Amino acid sequence: MRIHVNDPLDKLAMEKLKASGYEVTEGHLEKEELIKEMPNINVLVVRSATKVTADVIEAGTDLKIIARAGTGLDNVDVEKAKEKGIKVINTPGANGISVAELAIGLMIACARHIARGTIDLKEGKWTKKELKGHELYKRTAGIIGFGNIGKEVAKRLLAFDMKVLAYDPFVKETDLNVEIVELERIFKESDIITIHVPLNEQTKHLINKEAFDAMKDGVIIINAARGGVVDEKALYDALVSGKVYAAGLDVFEVEPPTDELRKKLLELPNVVVTPHIGASTVEAQLRVGQIIVNKILEEIKN
Ligand code: NAD
Repeated sequence: MRIHVNDPLDKLAMEKLKASGYEVTEGHLEKEELIKEMPNINVLVVRSATKVTADVIEAGTDLKIIARAGTGLDNVDVEKAKEKGIKVINTPGANGISVAELAIGLMIACARHIARGTIDLKEGKWTKKELKGHELYKRTAGIIGFGNIGKEVAKRLLAFDMKVLAYDPFVKETDLNVEIVELERIFKESDIITIHVPLNEQTKHLINKEAFDAMKDGVIIINAARGGVVDEKALYDALVSGKVYAAGLDVFEVEPPTDELRKKLLELPNVVVTPHIGASTVEAQLRVGQIIVNKILEEIKN
């Protein structure tokens, strides 16, 4: 049994995996190299960087398990794996608190111009008069996708005394003081919209020009889910026109965001960005690492 870890895992998790007695290899192989190596791999461990596409899976003639250390499975061709009888495992919920905390950080950064204030001061500019922001208190937040992360975000927004709405076609009720509503109401009533859905055919470009048109003027948009959920050209236009007050983005449809559109987006003063670090905390990676290793070892036993 050979387990290959293609994206970095937490150190303790690696130690536990190595102590299992199975052959464990680690190190990032780019697609072509990975495809060549696949016939010798029984368990492939990835985070979000490795794209486990149909051709990678096809090449895994002895592949038994694809282990995704994290939540989103949009980098794994789950259908192909199913077709080939390969088990796909992940760690739902294990990094939810970290992502929720980052989303809250991006919200406050957007509402209070924290990033711009930092850049200006470092450049020796005292822009106090230009950086009047907004409180979150008593304003309305709309959460799109009310799963693990969406709920953690809601709990924190309630502590700010915000009115919280949530849209999720698979959630009809909640014990939290959150109103479950249709998407139209999220767009119509929210001062801040935060996105926590998986990327799939239904959610790709869910936030497009039409959606922006339906939103309140001066809305704040937070995306710590997946870049593809937001049409970034439409977001760029809405930021330039002032329809959107500010956007906080941890994820991009192209990562790293180095193409022309993304470069233009990043240049806007009302965009606060982080390089897909929602789950990048010591605590989340420890949790994710432990859970995925336990699941792998259990799965091998079965
Ligand atoms: P989850 O599965 O617990 O929750 C996702 C929710 O979205 C579910 O309740 C689901 O019913 C809902 N949903 C599905 N389709 C929808 C739609 N069309 N409209 C509205 N809601 C819809 O997952 P989670 O742990 O909350 O994570 C959510 C997403 O966050 C992941 O899929 C992943 O893409 C992203 N994520 C990002 C980072 C990061 O580093 N920024 C880290 C972890 C997860």
